[in-house]
Amino acid sequence: MLAQLEVLSTTTGAYVFVVVLGLLWGSFANVCIYRWPPSDEFPDGRSVVAPGSHCFVCKRDICWYDNVPLLAYLWLRGRCRFCETQFSPRYLIVEALTGALFGVAWWFAIALGPMRESFDVTLVRFVVSAAFCFVMVVIAFIDLDHKLILNKITMPSVVVFYAATFLLPERRWSEGLIGIAIGYGLPWLVGEIYFRVTRREGLGLGDSMLLAVIGALLGWKGVVVSLFGGSVLGSVIGITALLVGRARQAPATEPASPPEPEDPTTPEGTDADDDDPGIMRMELPFGPFLAMGALIYLFAEPWIHLYFALFG
Ligand SMILES: [Zn+2]
Repeated sequence: MLAQLEVLSTTTGAYVFVVVLGLLWGSFANVCIYRWPPSDEFPDGRSVVAPGSHCFVCKRDICWYDNVPLLAYLWLRGRCRFCETQFSPRYLIVEALTGALFGVAWWFAIALGPMRESFDVTLVRFVVSAAFCFVMVVIAFIDLDHKLILNKITMPSVVVFYAATFLLPERRWSEGLIGIAIGYGLPWLVGEIYFRVTRREGLGLGDSMLLAVIGALLGWKGVVVSLFGGSVLGSVIGITALLVGRARQAPATEPASPPEPEDPTTPEGTDADDDDPGIMRMELPFGPFLAMGALIYLFAEPWIHLYFALFG
């Protein structure tokens, strides 16, 4: 059975199967991203299983054939079949991204597998990598929407991914533990110093928990690469967003500010928020960048090891 699978593992069919699997998990990721965060109505978030998928405007159930990942969005042009509400293209992006990440996870597991391990370890490696990608996508998009990294995702993930390292031959038991400690401790330390110096909150506890998840699977090196890579990515994208925001803001404020000498008390508060400090205070969540850094390391690490094994 495994031998037959191994023969098929490099075929196009295998890749199609894996990407479709990723699209289905991406569809589930959308449900998690949409339902898990707390809201006014549901302070603890909602169940991802209980009510089936439904349109959030007309509340009608979405039938299974309108729920097919990617395709359903395309053939309904992103609209509800009944009330034609436009759904965000984000649903499509999350599905496609998860599908692509599953494909990459398979490709990397298969490409490196035969050189150093048996096929069953390769399969385990794929499952662990794919699960890690899924968790990173869910955490990144919830953080993007709500600036929240939920403990109900990170806490079980720390345990699961640490346990998973016992199935991977190259990991020692201590690596994950050190990774968790550094992952949780390092941002806490950075945040503490940042707070002492600037009196402002830099990194949140959620970021610490996310790095603990990363450390549990990828060890302290994964934590350092994610933190460093995430900071670089965050700075580049943050500065770009700042410049774009400023360019957009500039023409709008100039003609609007002179003819408004009415009530000095009410507009003052809002004006101060809309002006320069408002843009300066525009904070990007750090989680998505940490997740990007972690995924880059997840896929790059085996190649780095291979490189040193061959040439180092
Ligand atoms: Zn509807």
